Amino acid sequence: MCIQNGELVIISSLNFRKNLRSSLRVRIFYILVLAGILPSLIMGIGILKSYENRAIITRGKDVQNQCNILSKQLTSADYINDQSSELLNEELVQLSNMYDGRILIIKNNFKIIKDTYILDEGKTIISEEVIKCFKGEAPAASYDQNSRYIEVTTPILDINKEFITGVMLTSVSTDSIAVNLEILSRKVIILGIVICISMVLIGMMISSVLVRPIARISKSIESITGGYGGENIDIKDYMETEAISNAFNKLFLRMKVLDDSRQEFVSNVSHELKTPITSIKVLADSLLMQEDTPIELYQEFMQDIVEEIDRENKIISDLLALVKLDKTSADLNIESKDINQLLELILKRLRPIAKKRNIEMVLESYRQVAAEVDEVKLTLAISNLVENAIKYNRENGWVKVSLNADHKYFYIEISDSGIGIPEESIEHIFERFYRVDKSHSREIGGTGLGLSITRNAILMHRGAIKVNSTENEGTTFTVRIPLNYIA
Ligand code: ADP
Repeated sequence: MCIQNGELVIISSLNFRKNLRSSLRVRIFYILVLAGILPSLIMGIGILKSYENRAIITRGKDVQNQCNILSKQLTSADYINDQSSELLNEELVQLSNMYDGRILIIKNNFKIIKDTYILDEGKTIISEEVIKCFKGEAPAASYDQNSRYIEVTTPILDINKEFITGVMLTSVSTDSIAVNLEILSRKVIILGIVICISMVLIGMMISSVLVRPIARISKSIESITGGYGGENIDIKDYMETEAISNAFNKLFLRMKVLDDSRQEFVSNVSHELKTPITSIKVLADSLLMQEDTPIELYQEFMQDIVEEIDRENKIISDLLALVKLDKTSADLNIESKDINQLLELILKRLRPIAKKRNIEMVLESYRQVAAEVDEVKLTLAISNLVENAIKYNRENGWVKVSLNADHKYFYIEISDSGIGIPEESIEHIFERFYRVDKSHSREIGGTGLGLSITRNAILMHRGAIKVNSTENEGTTFTVRIPLNYIA
């Protein structure tokens, strides 16, 4: 396959983008940066807004106070009727200059009698604020957002201070506030940039520190799986990393146990398969080495060789049966079966072997039982148990097979009057290749796999098997299987 340079660039940029999205470190970085930058951004905007509001209110109050003082002087000098006072005119100009604004004096016929800009004198002005002021409503400073001007209306009374005869309309510019606001904004922006850069650096640092234990876990796992590390990982920086370490250690231990048992199984299999071959080789070699071997000896050795071949065959068939049963329960062929009939058939098949040693076989069935089972696998399991009951029995002994059931399970009990199993061996008899007495078992054709096969077949049916035995008296195996198969 030929990948062009362009395609490579696209693939690596896609991977990079995927890493950015899925990396825990990058996510923690984003969260820290957002958590640091957003509040400082909101705070910066809040500071600027509140400074602006405060500055406008203070300026409005200042102007209002100055206007009140001047309006009192205008009232005392009856300025509405006589504007000749040089001093007052000068003060009006000074006040308007001080705030970079304009003062209009309006008579009660809405005529402008004084304009510090000298533009609109003699003209008429009708505005909401002026009308309200004439009506005697509380004077207030108002701020016009568009023109950025503060307007203050102040009443001027007649000489007897009884009526409002005029209104002083003062407009002052807020340009100086805007200039201050701009300077402050610049400082806030610089501070914001400093905060952003520090948050990015802090975010990078903290995110890499926070994910370090996770990186250490994956490094340890990699070195263990690569065969370079120890056998345990122990990273207790966080509760979570401790839990991951413990879970991994458990899994690793389980894998080791499985591996050990696999190795033991392989070595057992090789050993068991080698034994008959070694015997065959010894028998064949001794025949080859002897000259003029008598026909009787030849026949006897050949008979032994055939027995060893049969034995090898039996081990291989048992191993194959075991491997089949190691597969999942999906391989079961579940059907509703008459268990009484199934047991009768098993006993019928095995009766000839029992007869050879004059062993009596009894089937005791307490009720008719139909259950959902895999006929082949259950037959194999029960046949093994009955075969063992015959094999490990004494001459003229007995084997009893009984069948019973309740509303949930059916029970098969296989008892014998045989040699029994020593107490210390009971816990091992279900292990593969385990035999209480190797030579005796070998003599009677045992492979040590029968009970493993039986147990696996019963477990596949979600059943259970129990054993009770007394040496030199006999053994009882009890099998319990659900009447309806539980998938
Ligand atoms: P084997 O092929 O040797 O019979 P099994 O797995 O069937 O292997 O049985 C394991 C061992 O358990 C046997 O070797 C035997 O020692 C013991 N055992 C099994 N069933 C009985 C029994 N009914 N009475 C006495 N010993 C038994």
